[in-house]
Amino acid sequence: MRRVVCPGSFDPVTNGHLDIISRASRLYDEVVVAVLINITKKSLFTVEERMEMLREVTAEYGNVRVDRFHGLLVDFCETNGISAVVKGLRAVSDFDYEMQMAQMNYSMAKVETMFMTTNPLYSFLSSSLIREVAKYGGDVSGLVPEQVIGKLRARVAES
Ligand code: ADP
Repeated sequence: MRRVVCPGSFDPVTNGHLDIISRASRLYDEVVVAVLINITKKSLFTVEERMEMLREVTAEYGNVRVDRFHGLLVDFCETNGISAVVKGLRAVSDFDYEMQMAQMNYSMAKVETMFMTTNPLYSFLSSSLIREVAKYGGDVSGLVPEQVIGKLRARVAES
């Protein structure tokens, strides 16, 4: 069983994330999408809400499971029988940090990292930018899944 993890904050999930998750699901037996619990970082959606949105938008893929983790990703991998991390690379600016993390994870626990180049349609896309655009009423259709649009509008209206 080749099981991999796509880790991230997913605050909220974007079409860029979904593109990587769906491509990974075609390559591996099981993909675990793991939401990072980071209590020091203020988020727009709770971990539960982010997981629920991820479940909704990945429901069509039979081999994708949604979970959460805190602490070291390599510990989550060990507990869940995961041998590799799948990451999307948007631009050169992602590379330095991602390479450091990949090498650290390999050196700590022999966990491999597989990089996928982003779909050019989404190379400029990040959750933080989506939050910013939504906050000022910008149009995010085509950038986040349909199911997320309404939730995003409602949340920014509340805050
Ligand atoms: P962000 O807030 O930058 O979207 P996340 O922590 O939610 O960051 O993203 C998790 C991972 O998903 C990133 O490390 C990256 O590997 C991948 N990712 C995020 N956005 C994209 C995108 N537009 N294209 C490809 N991969 C992406």
